[in-house]
Formats: sequence, structure tokens, C-alpha cells
Amino acid sequence: MSDNYGSEKYECLNNMVIILVDPSHYGNIGSASRAMKTMGLSKLRIVSSNGSIITDEALALSKGAADVLKSAEVFSTLDEALADVTFVAGTSARHRSIELPLYQPREAVEKIRPHLMNGMKCAIMFGRERTGLTNEELQRCDIHINIDANPEYSSLNLAMSVQVLSYELRQACLRSATQEPSADFDEGLRKPKHSDLEQFYSFIEKNLCDCGFLKKNHNGSVMGQIRRVYAKADMSAHELRIIYGTLASMLKHRKDGGE
Ligand code: SAH
Repeated sequence: MSDNYGSEKYECLNNMVIILVDPSHYGNIGSASRAMKTMGLSKLRIVSSNGSIITDEALALSKGAADVLKSAEVFSTLDEALADVTFVAGTSARHRSIELPLYQPREAVEKIRPHLMNGMKCAIMFGRERTGLTNEELQRCDIHINIDANPEYSSLNLAMSVQVLSYELRQACLRSATQEPSADFDEGLRKPKHSDLEQFYSFIEKNLCDCGFLKKNHNGSVMGQIRRVYAKADMSAHELRIIYGTLASMLKHRKDGGE
């Protein structure tokens, strides 16, 4: 499939992934594909335990964007869908209590833009039609996005939310086209892959359970707070390696019988 459907200035959209978490209406997957293709986006990922997502309804609503729909990747877990992603934004119709930076679409794409421009894979994820994204899923994000809407009726249709964000991403690329690209890219911006961060959190959780700080069947709230602290630190890939390395080496020192 030809990517980015247009001129070079939109090339960075090839690094952008749209993730739909557990959509229940296949028509929405078709409409989201269409929304993406009109804006030059082509990488769609679906988190679903139902396997195939290409139904007649999805195909009908995708119209001329059946190529986006047919090349969508289906994952059974969110962590698999995010594994190679370095910057993740989660959308929510509600102002949830999770303390992560909350942006409007235009501000949010400005946060995403430097990562995209420098060839890193970024994702925006969208939640279920009825219940949105869970707090646990939102915890996996670097930023949150809320589309300003009528406070009495603020929940947009899933595919329409994809349209708003896809449009803003396209506009961000256009703005980038007038700027010099990555020569002076700040290494501090090179973020760890999602899979590396998750490995780090699993390491912390396992060791906090082993030493008795967390119960084996803990409810996740302390881990949620720990994640938030690290999320606020906004670690680069290099900083994550340092923190991970220091903790692992202290642990090894203890296991080896050190003081
Ligand atoms: N009742 C759900 C709404 C789900 S709408 C809730 O309160 O969260 C389905 C998805 O569309 C949401 O998970 C989100 O990804 C997106 N969405 C809908 N309205 C939005 C808004 N105003 N801002 C950001 N995302 C929105």
C-alpha cells in the first residue's frame, strides 16, 4: 500500500499509529479507517480478542479506505500493540483523575510532533464506545488528550474523535514542513520503547513483591502511583537505562552478600 498519500511533507505521518482499544462496533473501525486515510494516516492497530475485524459493515463504512482497514494489525493485548511505540497519547471524553498532562488536540500534536519528525513511532489510542479507556490503560500514556466539547454532552463518536486527531496531526506535519528537521535533535527526547518501560515496571513490581513491600495479590494502586512518578520524570531511553541499571546493580550487590 502506498503510504502518506501525498507529498513528502506528510511523510512523518508514516510513524504515527492509531490504536482502537476493544471497539465493539465494527462499523466504527471502518469509519476510523476512512477518517485516517482522508488525512494521510495509514497505520491502524486494533486491540481485540475477537480476531478478525474485517466485516461487511466495517468494509462498507471504510468506503475508499479499505486498504487501511485490511492492513490493520490486530493484537490481543494493549502492551503488544504498544511494544515498539515510544510516545503514547490516550484520549478521553472525561477529565480523569490520573495526574498526567492533559492537552487539547492542537497542543497534544505539538508534543507528539518532535518525536514523529525524528523517526520515532508514536501512537494515539482511543477507547471503547461505551466505557472509554480504563485507568490502567491511561496509565500507559505519556499524555492525555481531551477534545473540548459541550460539557453536557462531551462524548464524540469514536471515528469522529479519530478524525479530529488525524486532522490535527496532518496540520502539525504541515507546520513542520516549514521548519528545519532533526539536525539538532535533543537526545533527551529519545524516549524508551513501551516494551522497555513495561519490562522496567515488571522488574520493580516483582522485586517489591519479593521483598514483601507489595502483597502478591495487590490491587495495583501503589504500582499506579509508582508509574505516575516515573511518567512525570518523562525519562529518555538513556535515563531509563541508568535508573534500571542502578536498581539492578544494587539488587545484585545485596544478593551477592554485599552490605
Ligand atoms: N463513555 C465513554 C466515552 C467513550 S467514546 C467515556 O466516558 O469515556 C469512545 C472513545 O472516543 C473514547 O474512549 C475516546 O477515545 C474518544 N472520545 C470521545 N469523545 C472524546 C472527547 N471529548 N475527547 C477525547 N476523546 C474522546
